[in-house]
Amino acid sequence: MHDSWIEKGQEVFLQNYKPLPIVIERGVGNYIFDKEGNKYLDFVAGIATNALGYSYEPLKKAMKDQIDKITHCSNLYYNEPSIRAAQKLVELSGLSKVFFCNSGAEANEAALKLGKRYINKYIGENKTEIVTMKNSFHGRTIATVSITGQTKYHEGFAPLFQGITYTPFNDEEALGKILTEKTAILMIEPIQGEGGIRPAEKVFLQKARTLCDALDIVLIFDEVQCGIGRTGTVFAYEQYDVKPDIVTLAKGLGAGYVIGAIIANEKTAKGFEPGTHASTFGGNPLSTTAAGVVLDALVHEGLLEHVKTMGSYLETCLMELKKRHTSIIDVRGMGLMMAIEMDDPVGDIIAKALKKGLMLINSGTHIIRFVPPLTIKQTEIDEMIQILEDVLSSK
Ligand SMILES: *Cc1c(COP(=O)(O)O)cnc(C)c1O
Repeated sequence: MHDSWIEKGQEVFLQNYKPLPIVIERGVGNYIFDKEGNKYLDFVAGIATNALGYSYEPLKKAMKDQIDKITHCSNLYYNEPSIRAAQKLVELSGLSKVFFCNSGAEANEAALKLGKRYINKYIGENKTEIVTMKNSFHGRTIATVSITGQTKYHEGFAPLFQGITYTPFNDEEALGKILTEKTAILMIEPIQGEGGIRPAEKVFLQKARTLCDALDIVLIFDEVQCGIGRTGTVFAYEQYDVKPDIVTLAKGLGAGYVIGAIIANEKTAKGFEPGTHASTFGGNPLSTTAAGVVLDALVHEGLLEHVKTMGSYLETCLMELKKRHTSIIDVRGMGLMMAIEMDDPVGDIIAKALKKGLMLINSGTHIIRFVPPLTIKQTEIDEMIQILEDVLSSK
């Protein structure tokens, strides 16, 4: 049965993905079941997205209720769920104004447009350059793929969006040299996600803030992956004592429902006026209902504390695992955004783990990342470690 669906999938989809050969049917708790009834412990969470697992009743109830009312009405009118969600984001971020869209790439596009328009209107039109990090990842649209500092994502898409330079992550000296009066925007992931789960150093982000202030540069943090509780605080930047001008969000914000957002400070928010940017589906009452539930769970249901506790437990377990397996050369990350770097490519380990009922995801060729639902339990971390141990021992 599985095989015939997989064959059909290969027939009807563009070949830009290479899925593992299972067909997902449903989720329960922090587990996923395929169409043949096989059960998998989920340490992928739809790529750091399904923040509340699959049995979070307040989410299901809120979504069902909202479906019975209305799911979409456009931005020609107000709707209450989006106002509530935006209000929460403003309160939690210490920033000022929200724009909702539908994905991480769209959030980054919106941030680039807002940053550019603010600079052009209020600072000066000779500031045109954009600086991002080597090894970064910001999305797959032409502009966001262009600002992504990894050539493998550029291949075949020339000419790219212009005026971008990439600087080494965590290198303050290089940053000091590359930022000039001509720079309009600096974009950084506080923890590089697709680039191998690499946290920024505090001094680096602080230097970035200082330089951006001195040179009138818009500082954008891409928290599409590391934001919304993933690291144990709502925003990763809270742990760095640095505030961006604009932060971008998506993945975990909707707990599996389609949403992206940017939050801008008062200063840069002026860059948009009626008619300058839009998204038909953005801020629809269904996806923003999900965001409201997620933010409540983090702050009022103790989920942030849970992430901190489980994050440090996961880190300890991975450190122990590293002691037993010399093939693991590094353990790093923050909260429930952890990784192990291996001495060999990890594709084989991920395939074997799946056969043993564990979903894992890579980040680059040699790195396995651990981005489970934020609701993951200690016993489930133990179970994951046991399966991973079996796979590593059978190599
Ligand atoms: C996933 C990701 C994106 C792109 O998000 P999409 O929803 O796939 O467009 C952008 N930035 C970061 C840091 C991401 O992890």
